[in-house]
Amino acid sequence: MTEYRDPVFLKPYFQQNIWGGRRLETEFGFSIPDGRIGECWAVSAYPGCESTIANGPDAGMKLSEFWSREPEFFGDLPAEYRAAGYPFITKIIDAKENLSIQVHPDDAYAAAHENGARGKTECWYILDCPEHAELVLGHNAGTREELRRMIGEHRWNELLRRVPVRKGDFIQLEPGTIHAITAGVCLLETQQSSDITYRVYDYDRLQNGKPRELHKEQSIAVATIPAQDPDKMVLHTDKAPAGQMFELVKCRYYRVGRLPISGRATVGRARSFRIVTVTEGNGTMQTAGKDAPLKKGDSFLLPADSEGAEFDGTMNLIVASPVL
Ligand code: ZN
Repeated sequence: MTEYRDPVFLKPYFQQNIWGGRRLETEFGFSIPDGRIGECWAVSAYPGCESTIANGPDAGMKLSEFWSREPEFFGDLPAEYRAAGYPFITKIIDAKENLSIQVHPDDAYAAAHENGARGKTECWYILDCPEHAELVLGHNAGTREELRRMIGEHRWNELLRRVPVRKGDFIQLEPGTIHAITAGVCLLETQQSSDITYRVYDYDRLQNGKPRELHKEQSIAVATIPAQDPDKMVLHTDKAPAGQMFELVKCRYYRVGRLPISGRATVGRARSFRIVTVTEGNGTMQTAGKDAPLKKGDSFLLPADSEGAEFDGTMNLIVASPVL
């Protein structure tokens, strides 16, 4: 049996999107394919979009394989949880153009209508955005019939709500929330490992000469009505003190925190694995007496039951862990 005490760094999978840009290369230093690259699947075991291990004895191994081969790395997880596969996707999203207006189902709807897939709860930490940026969050329909009517009549300006955001803001999106990332926004997404998206509206854009498929019926079926007040969904984190974990959310699937570092900081022991992304700056990490350099764009997994990690530098970390 291999002793896994070292953190595992991941090599991302990159995805082309009609709305993508080049900032994953220019701002994050990734070597990316040509074209419009909208998504860096930094930590993912989603079939066809997997990250692979970048360091240590298992370099080159897919995360899904590592998940099933090295259960101790991830902690003492319930058998059913383990059997369902690595549970999250951590993505960096570069929206050069607007993303479609969309909504995701919850576990129950996805299980019943999408061949037993997971639903999609997701959350966003804003890495960068233009001045006066707004996200699409929620809607103004009072009933499902009204939602159906407004969608049918293309009354998008009346229907959709928008909320101002700035760098460092955090938003938790429960399934059923109608939402869209807008042009110029770059964010870190932590989500359930699911790719089920119902597109409500795509700004009448064409991809290869054709509009992308819409899923109006499914969207109407899963949308939360009335919608949550979008102003109450945005958490500002710019006052988070350096050296301390600032909790962004704890929901039924995950806990996510922000750890701004200026000098030294530590994270302690935990019973299950943690996912860490360096969203800004650089520095070093020390675990079990070993040093590893860290830079913006790095994502790694900290093993369960390790002594934790000590950081030194000027960085911002986003740290996620499972809720069981
Ligand atoms: Zn989404």
